[in-house]
Parts: sequence; structure tokens; C-alpha cells
Amino acid sequence: MFIILPHTKIKRIFITLQENCEILSSFFCRNVITIDFMRFTLIFIGIFLLTTSCMKKEADLLILNARIYTLDSSFSTAEAMAVRDGIILETGTNQEIRDQYTAGQVLDLTGKVVFPGLIDGHCHFYGYGLSLQKIDLRGTQSFEDVLERTLAFHREHPEHTCLEGRGWDQNDWMEAKFPDNTELNKLLPDIPVVLRRIDGHAAVANQAALDVAGFNEMTNIAGGAIEKQNGKLTGILLDNAVDSLLARLPKPSPEEKAQAFPEAQEKCFAKGLTMVCDAGLDGSEIAIIERLQQEGKLKMRIYAMLSNTAENRDRMTKGIQSGDRLVIRSVKLYADGALGSRGAWLKEDYTDMPGHKGLKVTSEEQAREVCQLALDHGFQVNTHAIGDAAVEMMLKIYRSFLNVKNDARWRIEHAQVVDPKDINLFGDYQIIPSIQATHATSDMYWAGKRLGPERVKQAYAYQKLLRQNGWIINGTDFPIEEIDPLLTFYAATTRKDVKGFPEGGFQIENALSREDAIRSMTIWAAKGAFWEDQIGSLEKGKKADFVVLNQDLLQVPDKEILSTQVEAVYLNGEKVF
Ligand SMILES: [Zn+2]
Repeated sequence: MFIILPHTKIKRIFITLQENCEILSSFFCRNVITIDFMRFTLIFIGIFLLTTSCMKKEADLLILNARIYTLDSSFSTAEAMAVRDGIILETGTNQEIRDQYTAGQVLDLTGKVVFPGLIDGHCHFYGYGLSLQKIDLRGTQSFEDVLERTLAFHREHPEHTCLEGRGWDQNDWMEAKFPDNTELNKLLPDIPVVLRRIDGHAAVANQAALDVAGFNEMTNIAGGAIEKQNGKLTGILLDNAVDSLLARLPKPSPEEKAQAFPEAQEKCFAKGLTMVCDAGLDGSEIAIIERLQQEGKLKMRIYAMLSNTAENRDRMTKGIQSGDRLVIRSVKLYADGALGSRGAWLKEDYTDMPGHKGLKVTSEEQAREVCQLALDHGFQVNTHAIGDAAVEMMLKIYRSFLNVKNDARWRIEHAQVVDPKDINLFGDYQIIPSIQATHATSDMYWAGKRLGPERVKQAYAYQKLLRQNGWIINGTDFPIEEIDPLLTFYAATTRKDVKGFPEGGFQIENALSREDAIRSMTIWAAKGAFWEDQIGSLEKGKKADFVVLNQDLLQVPDKEILSTQVEAVYLNGEKVF
């Protein structure tokens, strides 16, 4: 092995040697060696050093003139990076990388900014793909608006024999109350239609859908509710009743299902994501991922959380699965519903609905069974818990399985309302909060109504949660929120929504610093998926997953964060956007 020195250093050595030749030779002449022999030796050494310096190492890709945030432990930056076979060979100054490497492809980024590929720590990647094949009801201003979009979709896609939509939020409407299905039944009497609320925990279904599912005035669903008025069904369903109805409707065809992944991937790459943690997949969906990955149609890195089904519990007994683009070593549980639809399970009544505390959707016994299975087979447990009662239940169940010092990285997904009495359990048992910064800025308009002025201060407390373990996972829960990670970064650091509201930020004491926000979307999110040895930072030996931005997220004024452009995205050293 040659020790390869930069060109300039070798030239300097050579010149110094020549300059000192006379002095050296006079010394040696006094001894045995002649001046000619000295010259010959020095020239030989020089040629040797120059030759070895020309033997630069081969790389596939050099990135030069960039501001690279490596996200290493000291948050260092670099100017340049060399990549080969999808792996980072080195980061350093332009000079260092140029002197050591040659490559077929050299990118001069002219001062642009490079971050590790962005990670969504909790989303529904597959669900998002399917949602692209469904009616998008986000941003609707009234129920009439919802009906209009539903009809328009039906006209455009007459081949769909069952219509599903998602995204309405009665809190955005003039009349902020749940709709009923009277108008829907008149407009679409023959085809089943289910329109889910933005959080997926409530839905309005037409009579045709209720009929197909066999729901009537006598139906009872554990962990859910079927709303009635004057003894008649209104079409409104909550929590498990929504899932139960959907389970009884015709399923998308295998081809429709497979199509969901590449469509979702394309949109996610364009926003700078190179890895997603899909919070709940079943065996058939994982089989599609594996097939598409083998065929080269799906390149996104996926951390698949297994849904809590009998088939998946059986899969867990066979151990964890860890590939280049797919890792399976976690199971997803649900402790409660969502706050918007008053399904989140609270210790005290909802401020805007006395007598109601929300819904517990998994029994303690069931949760314990899954935790035991996970512990036995090295799996991580990730539980959806939004209300303070649900968070407390899960923290205490986790505590009974975990040692004080552990590296199980069991997670509480959302951790929205946390009783100050319970919060230390996160730190004491290394339980990791997995948060969604945009939930705070989406919910801030009505969260105070649900929780009251005191309790809301304990909600969306991301800074406080971060301090528990010194790291935190950030995501979006898309398609509940937009897929764009820049929105996460903006909401986490400014606690404002895209309209710049509110002026000083919502409960600004719980904002994250910009450094911590970017960590929560890269290296910490990778750690939350046991993937930090390979991705999440740009360091020697790690995978070359990175994103090129036109401006510096760490430096630009707050209001310019959202105008940042994703210029290119690389995964395993391959340009994917
Ligand atoms: Zn989710």
C-alpha cells in the first residue's frame, strides 16, 4: 500500500530536497557518496513520489464546492465528498478530495448545500400511495365542497366500483360539526362511498356502503362508534367502526396495490426523502415491496412496522429481517384514537365534551402479549398514543418489560398529550418519543378547545420530550399531513403554520433548534430505526444518500425556509431525483 500524499505537498518536498541537495551532498561527499549519485537518488525519489501521487483512488462520483452538513457527532461540515459503489469514501476539503480521488462524474455544486437524505420517521407510505388513487378531501371548506369533489372524482374514474376519500376536517368549515349522509345518499345511491376525516379516525359512509358492510341500527363495534340520531344511522363512524366498515368493502386489486408504491416514491423523492418508516404494514403489502425492490421499481429505503395481526405476530417469531432497502424489526400498536375526532384517550374529560374521555382501542392484556413477543424476538414496539391516559398506560407497560438501561428503543408514536407526572418515564426507561412537528401547527387552532387552557400547555411539548433522552424522531404521519419534510423543519423550529401564524409561534418554548430539527429528520430518525450505522449522516463508510438544496436551512431567515428548493436527490450514490 502506498501512502498517497496530495500533489502539492509532494512538489514542495521535491523542491526542498533539490534546494538542499548541495548541502546534503557536501555532507555526504565528506563521507563516501559522490554528488552525482546523490542527485540520481534524489531524482529517483522525486519521480517515485510524483508517480504514486498520480495513482489517485478511483471513485464513481465526486461532489465539490458544496457546503455539506455531515450530521456527524460534532455537526461538522465539509466541502467535498467522494463516493464509490454507493458508499462514501471520504468527506473533506475540495483540495483533499481532488488530490486523492478521480471519478467519472464530478459535480461542482457551486456553493450549494448538501444534507443526508431526509427521513420520515413515521408515515404511511403505502397508505399515501393508495391515497393518490383516492379522493383528496384536504382543504375542503364545507361539506358541499366535499360532495362536489366526490362527484368529480366519480366522473373521472368511472372504473372504480367503490369510492374512498380522505382529508375533510369539520374544524375548517363555517359550521364546525360532523356531517351526515343525507345528501351523499341522494347523489350516489348505488355505489359504496366512504369519506374519512383527515385523521382517519372518523368517516361518513353512504347507505350503500353501510349496506355492503351489513351495518344497521343494531350493530355494535368494540372500540368504535356508529352514530345514530332518532334511532337512525347518520353515516358517521368512529375509530374501530371505520376500520371495520373498510375491511368489509371491496379491496383494491393487486395491481392497484402495487401501483401505490412507485407513485408514492416519486413524490417523496422529489421532496428529498430517501427513507420512510411505514407505520403499519401487513404481510401482503410487504410481499409487494419485496417484489418491487427485486424488480428495481422501488428504491426507497423502507423501515416497515408490522401491523398487529395474527399473521405478523407469527412472522415476528421468525426474527428480524434486515436488508439494504428494507428493514423489519418493529411492531405497531394503537393505544387510542386521535384528538381531532375526540378519540384520543384522556385522563380527564374533554373540555368541549363533558363526560367523554375518548377511546382506548387496545386492551392492556393484548398490548402486554405483543410486548412480550417483541422482547423475545428482538423487535421494537411502536405504539400510537395521543391522549395522556394512553401515553401513561403504554409507558407503564413498557416499563414493566424494559430494564432501566436498555437499547430496545421502544417508541411512543405522537406522544401528543403527556401528563407532567409521567414524562420522566421516557428518560428513565429510554423510551423514544416519535413526534410530528406539523401536528402542532395543524392542531393549534382547536387543540385548546379539546384540552382547555391548562392541559394544552402539556401538549405538543417537543422540546421537553427531546430533553428526556437527548434525541427524538420526527416525521409527518403523511398522508395526514403533507409529505414535505421542509414543512416539518419549519414547524419544528418556528412553531408556525405556512401562513406564518401565530406571530411568536405556538407554545414557542417547545420549538427545536435548527440543528436538533435536522438531526431529528436524519441521524436520529435513522437511530429510531436501528439504521444509524449505515445512513442518517454523511461519513466515511456510510451509504451515499443525500439531498442537494439551493440554500442553507441552517442559515436562511425563518420565512425563507419554505422557499428552499430540492435540486437533486441521491440514494446509494444513484441520482433518483
Ligand atoms: Zn400514523
